[in-house]
Amino acid sequence: MNAMTLPDTNTMYSALLNKDSSFEGIFFVGVKTTGVFCRPTCTAKKPKKENVDFFPTTKEALQYGYRPCKVCHPLQNNGETPVWLKGIIKEIGQNGVVKFKDADLRERNIDPARIRRWFKKHHGITFQSYLRLLRVNTAFGRIKHGEKVIESAYDLGYESLSGFTESFKKTTGFSPSKSKDKKIITVTRILTPLGPMLAGAVEEGICLLEFVDRRMIEKQIKRLKKYLNAEFVPGQHKHFDKLDKQIKEYFEGKRKKFDLPLSLPGTDFQVKVWKELQRIPYGSTRSYQQQAIALKNPKAIRAVAKANGDNRIAIIIPCHRVIGKDGKLVGYGGGMWRKQYLLNLEKKNI
Ligand SMILES: [Zn+2]
Repeated sequence: MNAMTLPDTNTMYSALLNKDSSFEGIFFVGVKTTGVFCRPTCTAKKPKKENVDFFPTTKEALQYGYRPCKVCHPLQNNGETPVWLKGIIKEIGQNGVVKFKDADLRERNIDPARIRRWFKKHHGITFQSYLRLLRVNTAFGRIKHGEKVIESAYDLGYESLSGFTESFKKTTGFSPSKSKDKKIITVTRILTPLGPMLAGAVEEGICLLEFVDRRMIEKQIKRLKKYLNAEFVPGQHKHFDKLDKQIKEYFEGKRKKFDLPLSLPGTDFQVKVWKELQRIPYGSTRSYQQQAIALKNPKAIRAVAKANGDNRIAIIIPCHRVIGKDGKLVGYGGGMWRKQYLLNLEKKNI
């Protein structure tokens, strides 16, 4: 993870122990045992070396599942956080999971456009993306592929174990020990060169693969819960090893077809659209119109576009291969820069 832009680990770890303020803004540190990320100068108890992840930016720490520390407030730039913002940042810190609509912001005398710009400038994400990442991180924690849920709970220590159970209960509505009774969607993070993705699996196959900062992610999570009558639980799943391997091969340009079981709950029309997407060959593109014609429904261009946007399994169901009629890139849930990257990658390895 961006090791190129960071000093070496030993230097950063000793800066952390020494609370060296010259490293402010150079790196942020994620503490695996608490799921929280800090500035180098944080006054909280310092973690062991094996329990830290270093990040060049707050954005990356958030994307990798960490929440900002309540002691050192890494979201507040030293001497730069304007007075008008301090109140709301404090409010978010106290409440944990929060939603602020534009009207809520105006009630606090904050201009929504101004706070969006400030976050974008200082943290590389908009205010709403920040809140969304915070909510997703609170629900799923920093759990990465390869960690068992029970280990991560023990890993957190006794005090946080109760915190873990509590936040789990809050998110899922039932306690971890009872989770056997209900259908479960196991969820993990898969790391890619385009940032971490949230992956979900059920017995039948992979049911979710999406970039963690995607705007639709919460909606997709809600829909899946409803469709499958299931709850999300962070942990390991037999389908994840294969997924991890194949995604890695894809980004190395060594894999052109995926061979994974998928679970695609949706309307008949959506399922047809998603299957048709899988027929677009690696390295090539089609327009929505061509897709509609392929589905023998040439007038359904808009409906095809909509179902395309509702795809829950990015990359594997290659909705990035659909472009505008004029050859221009059109919307992509994960962001245009990602779409361009994927198309370039495929073109290069065709
Ligand atoms: Zn801290």
